[in-house]
Amino acid sequence: MSYDKNNIFAKILRGEIPCKKVYENKDVLAFHDINPQKKVHVLVIPKGEYVDLDDFNNKASDKEIVELNKAVTHVANLMGSKDKGYRALTNIGSDGGQEVPHLHFHLFGGEKVGKMVE
Ligand code: 5GP
Repeated sequence: MSYDKNNIFAKILRGEIPCKKVYENKDVLAFHDINPQKKVHVLVIPKGEYVDLDDFNNKASDKEIVELNKAVTHVANLMGSKDKGYRALTNIGSDGGQEVPHLHFHLFGGEKVGKMVE
């Protein structure tokens, strides 16, 4: 699938629609999910144009890959999830249930997250 520059996260990255920012650096943006599924539900996305994790792993630079992974841990700490833990999850494609075609990690925490798969 080619990258759709009009997806909602691309618009957030361009500042065309607002988000509740948690963290940002040169390569990564993290913000609260608009429809939180747990007490804390934050999305961590790369700033580069990648459809999903497979696209990212195939095309991103080593630096981008390292920065995104480090940001997951950093944001989890900002969420206060360092001691009690959290769940990091990324959906890929239609069977994976991905709705927004820009790679994002969901970080769920602040309470017991529950069953892994419904
Ligand atoms: P997916 O199903 O693609 O893994 O997850 C997409 C997530 O994006 C959903 O949890 C949904 O609530 C969130 N989302 C969709 N539109 C917006 C938006 O405009 N702003 C924010 N912050 N989150 C959004």
